[in-house]
Amino acid sequence: MDRVLIAGAGPVGFTVALNLARRGIPFTLLEGGDKIFDDPRAGTIHPPTLEMFATIGVTDTMIARGIVVGNYHYRDRKNGVVADFDLGVLANDTPFPFRLMLEQHKLCYILHDLLKNYSGHEILMEHRVTGVEQDASGVVAQVETPAGPKTYRGSYIIGCDGGRSQVRKSMNVDFDGFTYPERFLVLSTRYDFQPHGYAITNYIADPEEWCALFKVPGADDRGMWRVVFPADAAAPPEVIFEESAVQARIQGFHRKEGPYDVAHRNLYDVHQRVASCYRNGRLLIAGDAAHINNPLGGMGMNFGLHDAFSLTDKLGKILLEGANESLLDVYDRQRRTVAREYLQRQTIENKNNIEQKDPARQAEFYASLRAIVADRDKLRAYLLRVAMIEGVRRAASID
Ligand SMILES: Cc1cc2nc3c(=O)[nH]c(=O)nc-3n(C[C@H](O)[C@H](O)[C@H](O)COP(=O)(O)OP(=O)(O)OC[C@H]3O[C@@H](n4cnc5c(N)ncnc54)[C@H](O)[C@@H]3O)c2cc1C
Repeated sequence: MDRVLIAGAGPVGFTVALNLARRGIPFTLLEGGDKIFDDPRAGTIHPPTLEMFATIGVTDTMIARGIVVGNYHYRDRKNGVVADFDLGVLANDTPFPFRLMLEQHKLCYILHDLLKNYSGHEILMEHRVTGVEQDASGVVAQVETPAGPKTYRGSYIIGCDGGRSQVRKSMNVDFDGFTYPERFLVLSTRYDFQPHGYAITNYIADPEEWCALFKVPGADDRGMWRVVFPADAAAPPEVIFEESAVQARIQGFHRKEGPYDVAHRNLYDVHQRVASCYRNGRLLIAGDAAHINNPLGGMGMNFGLHDAFSLTDKLGKILLEGANESLLDVYDRQRRTVAREYLQRQTIENKNNIEQKDPARQAEFYASLRAIVADRDKLRAYLLRVAMIEGVRRAASID
């Protein structure tokens, strides 16, 4: 069988890879970088993602390495808790009625380790895809390598190569949407916020400076807190990262004696975009290559992982069972529809709500959250949506 090419060894590329390996489909995974990226990005994993990984025996390891979070807070920066969301209400909807805090690079390490149990594939680091062409029987990727330019041939290429995807650019599809005027600043500290009444996950609304506060396991699994703030797009990174500026930000959020130990400081541009099509013949995209969104709600990577399971299921049927290639159009329709209906809508709404400047609208929003947590049926309906279960069900209903 011809090999499948995968561009990009991020969480989505590795998930595609393991799903192909388990089916005995040979592949070459081409990664531009020299190692798995470990910058602080996704840390939240939602119930349907855990359900999908459970089907391939990965979830127990993920849970063993992560932090299980049964509730999260929506807070007002000045007045404290607005609503405490109990994910336990989803107990009849999912075997995993919680969020799992686990950094995305650790998920990559877990998947990379599992791939060692399979043969018939290669993982090539420092192999950057620079262009892709296709003919009737396959694709050819042009690849920049330490030994100079090379070409790789495969039956299909799956672009899991992130927001600036070269595979997407080779497909000639639009990537419409918008970029927010501000960036997101992520600061990490070991300081423990839990004794001060914070949950492991907190969304903290404020008209001037909202923030989000999460605990992830951290490099030594002893816990690392991430504090996310909006940052002025015009300010140079060195000004934003300057020690006194960083201390002022985090002390402004939670005053404590002595300076914070700030382990990481990172800035991210934030966009809302969806590709106009996820397929052009033998070229396919998944994950950030296909859709990008702001991280409030912790949905982007999860959504890309759902793409990976959906696409490999369909590709497996085509390559192993002789199913019609039109299944790849079903992949496009299912995943692109829910990217627009759920991922984009929900994350845009999350950002509008957390930074709401109109006091009347903010009060209305807080009242709606309080009404949701006060009523078990409303809470379940709300959490089915924000815990990403509804999106998976909706995708499955599309032919
Ligand atoms: C601050 C922040 C917090 C976030 N938190 C969450 C969260 O809690 N939950 C969540 O679900 N999502 C979250 N996200 C989003 C999440 O990080 C992304 O959705 C996720 O990284 C997408 O995974 P991916 O594998 O599609 O792409 P990436 O992680 O971007 O991986 C792409 C890979 O492709 C490689 N590559 C790029 N170009 C090429 C090329 N031409 N050839 C070969 N290789 C190439 C890159 O080196 C990289 O390894 C967050 C994002 C940010 C910025």
